[in-house]
Amino acid sequence: MINVIICAAGLSNRFGSNKLLEKYGKSVILTESIRPFLEIDEVEKIIVTANEDDIKLYEKIIRKNGFPIEYRIVVCKGGETRSESVYNALDYLTDNANYVLIHDAARPNISVELIKRVANELRENVCVLPVIDVPNTLYTKNLELRDRNEFFQAQTPQGFPRQLLCDAYDDWFEDKTTYTDDFSLVQHYRRYATFKYVQGDPTNVKITFRGDVKKNLSGIGYDIHTLEKSDTEFMPICGLQVPYDKKPKAHSDGDAPLHALMDAILSAIGEPDIGHLFPTYDDKYKDISSLILLDSVMDLVKKRGFVINNVSIAIILEKPRISPYIDEMKDILSAHMGLDKNSIGITSTTNEGSGLVGSGDAIAALATVSIY
Ligand code: MG
Repeated sequence: MINVIICAAGLSNRFGSNKLLEKYGKSVILTESIRPFLEIDEVEKIIVTANEDDIKLYEKIIRKNGFPIEYRIVVCKGGETRSESVYNALDYLTDNANYVLIHDAARPNISVELIKRVANELRENVCVLPVIDVPNTLYTKNLELRDRNEFFQAQTPQGFPRQLLCDAYDDWFEDKTTYTDDFSLVQHYRRYATFKYVQGDPTNVKITFRGDVKKNLSGIGYDIHTLEKSDTEFMPICGLQVPYDKKPKAHSDGDAPLHALMDAILSAIGEPDIGHLFPTYDDKYKDISSLILLDSVMDLVKKRGFVINNVSIAIILEKPRISPYIDEMKDILSAHMGLDKNSIGITSTTNEGSGLVGSGDAIAALATVSIY
């Protein structure tokens, strides 16, 4: 019989939050990485390693998906490193387990076919690694070209005879050297075993960055500021100082299009609006350039691991005519948002003389964003 160890105790540092709980396929990444193993009769038990704080939550999610957690799945405490987690999981192997498959929980596209391809090659003393070719041209960090045909990229599930795996891990426990996968660890401690590879699957990707999960988020923002006479002769519109004898009444510089844009971004990623982030009672933000505020919103976007796809801004004001400045506004946004100019849309219109905007006493703006 086969036992499976699913490594789910990683920290998702490059993702920004616990990626295994991210919505994916029928449920979340964690469950989709387990699901195909349940379809294989020889798999007697699946051992999921988790951080101590996540054990109860993972059990709940697995149970909610109708998986047989009582008799076929167990969630156990992982360790500080991947190898330590696997070492702990070995304690939970069933007596009947002759072979062990070890799989990354961050590979939810795993197919039954690939699992069988690995399992079918397992023999006494034979370890199996699924590999794919390197699609990109390969350089060393000294910019020396390498022949990519000489390299493979390793995937999981990796397969091992039970005793060989346990013996290798017992030896590893003596020095606890860092290994990024199990195949390399076993190669090091059991060099006289037989190591072979099978064709992996290019779609069996490891989810690392938030962009790997194709999830489109959209956000909308709106702002309006009344205008007053100004002696500066410039009015901030979308980050640009446009010549005009009025300026917005505001605690900050009152750049309504940028305020709408920031609210759209914050709305898309589920954060509170700019009124909460940069409160008007805080003197720190008095007369501040809204571009500085945009920079800190962008820092938040990056910190949370999101990437902006495109933004679209509609500016509504009677005067001045801003169409000649739109290209320059796009340059400014492009620089501050790290976004291609083609992904920034700015349109302008009047309010046809109606209301406060129509009489030239206010500027309004709407913005939408798409984020993944
Ligand atoms: Mg505002």
